[in-house]
Amino acid sequence: MTPSLSETTADATLVYLGLGSNLADPVGQIKSARHAIAQIPGVEELACSSLYRSLPMGPQDQPDYINAVMAISTRLSPSALLHYLQAIEKAHGRERKGQRWGARTLDVDILLYGGQSIDSPDLIVPHPGIAERSFVLLPLSEIAPQLVIPGKGTVIDLLVNCPLLGLQRLD
Ligand code: ADP
Ligand code: MG
Repeated sequence: MTPSLSETTADATLVYLGLGSNLADPVGQIKSARHAIAQIPGVEELACSSLYRSLPMGPQDQPDYINAVMAISTRLSPSALLHYLQAIEKAHGRERKGQRWGARTLDVDILLYGGQSIDSPDLIVPHPGIAERSFVLLPLSEIAPQLVIPGKGTVIDLLVNCPLLGLQRLD
């Protein structure tokens, strides 16, 4: 489906996405999600990090996560992009059971949307967790080490002060 004009912006925006999965072949889920995201009309993939294995946040009685970060260029508005990403989560079997930080087949978060700050009921950008999460900062440092997280600092500086907590890059 082609996005309508009201869902697009005049210029393309550089957007960073955080991907995570810990159910039903997480490596396959992340690879498939990357492909699906690159196929969204009005989205162009610019870069994708390696895949990483991380320990779960919050409830510990769940499998390890596989994470990656993508850079895309898009003319989709933030809310239109979020809708496409949520449709991709759903197509990958995502069920929302209400438990915060519970196991999931696929989670795709908008980490940064250009330099914009968004604080709406559906979307908070920059994503509030970026500066404290090694499973975001380390993959992000592969593709954008000097990127500035507004109000926090560069990715590489934040990473130096962030405990890795067992994070491992996959071969
Ligand atoms: P989490 O990613 O925190 O585990 P979910 O993926 O279940 O949680 O998302 C819950 C809600 O978070 C979504 O319905 C979405 O509207 C909202 N949300 C707020 N900010 C963002 C963001 N930057 N990226 C993606 N979803 C977001
Ligand atoms: Mg999410």
